[in-house]
Amino acid sequence: MLLKEKENGLHAIAMAMAMASAIQKEMTSGDTLTKSDRSPVTIADFAVQALVCNILHTNFPGIPIVGEEDSHVISKPENRDVFAKIAHYLQQFDAPLNKKWICDCVDLGGAEPDGTFWTLDPIDGTKGFLRGEQFVIALALISAGRVRLGILGCPNLPPDTGGTLFWAIQGRGSWQAPAAAVSQARPVWASRRTNPRQMKFVESYESSHSDKDTQLEISRRLQIANPPEQMDSQVKYGIVASGIADIYLRIPHPATPDYREKIWDHAAGSLIVEEAGGRVSDIDGKPLDFSTGKTLHRNRGILATNGLVHQRVLQVIQRGR
Ligand code: AMP
Ligand code: MG
Repeated sequence: MLLKEKENGLHAIAMAMAMASAIQKEMTSGDTLTKSDRSPVTIADFAVQALVCNILHTNFPGIPIVGEEDSHVISKPENRDVFAKIAHYLQQFDAPLNKKWICDCVDLGGAEPDGTFWTLDPIDGTKGFLRGEQFVIALALISAGRVRLGILGCPNLPPDTGGTLFWAIQGRGSWQAPAAAVSQARPVWASRRTNPRQMKFVESYESSHSDKDTQLEISRRLQIANPPEQMDSQVKYGIVASGIADIYLRIPHPATPDYREKIWDHAAGSLIVEEAGGRVSDIDGKPLDFSTGKTLHRNRGILATNGLVHQRVLQVIQRGR
């Protein structure tokens, strides 16, 4: 039951976490590039995608990989200096570590979603990564439009500990372990809290990624006493799955009302919350549909909760519109 996929996935993500943490500490300004959509991308995105895709492809050559990044940006002549830096972090591989090898490894993640495939976000929460805060490495296995296996590597949760791994296999529960000691796995469960005075509400740090004004209004109408807490990346799913927070809400920002979420931003996290006893839907209450390509075309926004309060939050969202 996906045990080999889980073992290899955990191994790859744990290695990638250590590498990404080292890069985060040693980053200089030249290590950040800009993608065609003007979003930032770093040498860590490419080094992690190369490392994880290499390991997955070696162990599962028949399973395609849908990664967030491709080698387009690093192939530009003005960015040629980044290869030496990326190679420096990939020295554990017995390979030539030249431009071609690195681009080929990154582009192993160039598949289109179809049938059974991996999806990888090498650095989810790049802006948090650049601020020295939360980010995750997110890997999921999707088959027939359903997430079967999800792994979140959270290097800065809690800070300065080597980080936490969360994972779930469909129908088999959710687990967490220190990244440095995967054998210390323990099950995680969403909270049982229903009293708004005790509940914690989490949302994106970046103001342009969700409608924080409306989210604040909804948390007030729910009478949640604590102010919403901001954090980057799918760490928010790990926090809800393990019962630290109760509600993660992501309403499309008014400036980008038609934004559709990317599969790699939600596949792993949503399974981990659901297998921990929580619930995940879009803001209309529809289940996330992972059968529509790289984006969640049929869904708008995200609501992840401990399950007990899900319906109540949906009602408040609906009443506000
Ligand atoms: P978070 O750290 O939770 O804000 O999520 C980071 C993710 O937000 C990135 O991986 C992007 O794919 C995604 N993102 C980028 N632009 C938007 C947008 N306008 N609305 C929602 N999500 C976005
Ligand atoms: Mg992302």
